[in-house]
Amino acid sequence: MTIVHLGMDDIDSPSGGCTTHFASTLVERLDGWHVKWLDYPNLVRLNPNIPYRTRGNGAVALRFCIEAKRMSELFSEARRMVEGYTERGYPNTNPGFVMVINDIPEQVTELAKLALWRALPIAAAQRIVDRLLLKHFIMGNGRGLIGALSAIGNRLANDHTYEYLAYRPISTRSRTRGVDHDSVIEMDRIMGDRVFSNMDPSSGEILIGPRGPDPVIYGIRGEKPEYVIEAASYVRSSEARERWTVFRTNQGTGEHLTHIVRVCDLRPYMAALVQGEVASTPTMIEGGHVMFSISDGSGRIDCAVYEPTRDLREKALLLTVGDEVCLHSGVRPSSSSHGLTLNVEGVEVITLSEQVAVMNPICPQCGKRMKSAGSGKGFKCDACGFRTRDAGKNEISIDRTLERGLYLPPLGAQRHLTRPIARINKTNSGMPTSLVERWHFP
Ligand SMILES: [Zn+2]
Repeated sequence: MTIVHLGMDDIDSPSGGCTTHFASTLVERLDGWHVKWLDYPNLVRLNPNIPYRTRGNGAVALRFCIEAKRMSELFSEARRMVEGYTERGYPNTNPGFVMVINDIPEQVTELAKLALWRALPIAAAQRIVDRLLLKHFIMGNGRGLIGALSAIGNRLANDHTYEYLAYRPISTRSRTRGVDHDSVIEMDRIMGDRVFSNMDPSSGEILIGPRGPDPVIYGIRGEKPEYVIEAASYVRSSEARERWTVFRTNQGTGEHLTHIVRVCDLRPYMAALVQGEVASTPTMIEGGHVMFSISDGSGRIDCAVYEPTRDLREKALLLTVGDEVCLHSGVRPSSSSHGLTLNVEGVEVITLSEQVAVMNPICPQCGKRMKSAGSGKGFKCDACGFRTRDAGKNEISIDRTLERGLYLPPLGAQRHLTRPIARINKTNSGMPTSLVERWHFP
């Protein structure tokens, strides 16, 4: 038996496919070959700030044992399937597909770590497959090679979650899925904290269905494969499930935000934690975005809390100069209208600066607040007539309405990778030693 890791990314099709859907068709095919699965398909989300990608930047790795005699046909069969799926030449897709045998080389693991938070050149991935003589193929400009390698290199050995993805026939193009709202509410109630980010309790908004024309009917996120499978049994939709697959994933783990980066070291498209002091008063500009700046001693940078982050903007507006914050951010490159800017996707308030109001002193005779008696003439009390030149103004500390802690956008505006509040201090570590009996259909 030979251990095989297949990595794939950007496998879309003009008729509306997506990489996870393709992966589920490949799982079905390999099941027919009686491979021994070593893991659930891994759905690995990469740096969400990469501009070329619009669909959440997710790549997939399949890991299994296969009889040595089938190795010769494995790669060519996979290639044939990718080409059939993408209808060769479709201009907006740049698929990448890689095969690694047995041990995963160190260079692949290192690339996977970088792909979570940096923007990588395609050439970096190409060099690795060339040097290590890894079987691979690309189409278009080959950008998918980065994700394909990164999916293989990220073993999801630390924190991970699961997603149950249900698909309809690829020919169905409508934007609605007919997912029954009440059934999702009921599912969420029954499952409790065994699942996460499937609905927004504050708005009642259902988050399991995508809005585009892709074949996903819904995706249910949870802590264990058994949980997402049970959860799916409660969800009703008018569109029938043609197939479904459970993925193990880094969604909801915050894996992209593990690097604290100084302002002077920030580069375009990085996902970074930036710690510093608020250096200008937040203001709301046209379009409903909130702008302010922070500095950390190495430099100062503009920060934008964009309109779709809703409530997070309200919290940002309560920041004042001198507050110490750690911003969960993506770095926007500079343009003709702005410099390098942090796109803020989370605000951790570390310390609040003291806010003081300067007020006239209290009258020592009657306890009322005095008034100025005129420039250089001290204070007078209107209530009892007391006058003094000896009293100074009082500094009064004002209660801050903002509290220390982490603030995130509403669930519907969070990234796939964002660790939601419900998962703070939750960790599923280690790789699965055995798989549940039925984790895909057909
Ligand atoms: Zn008085």
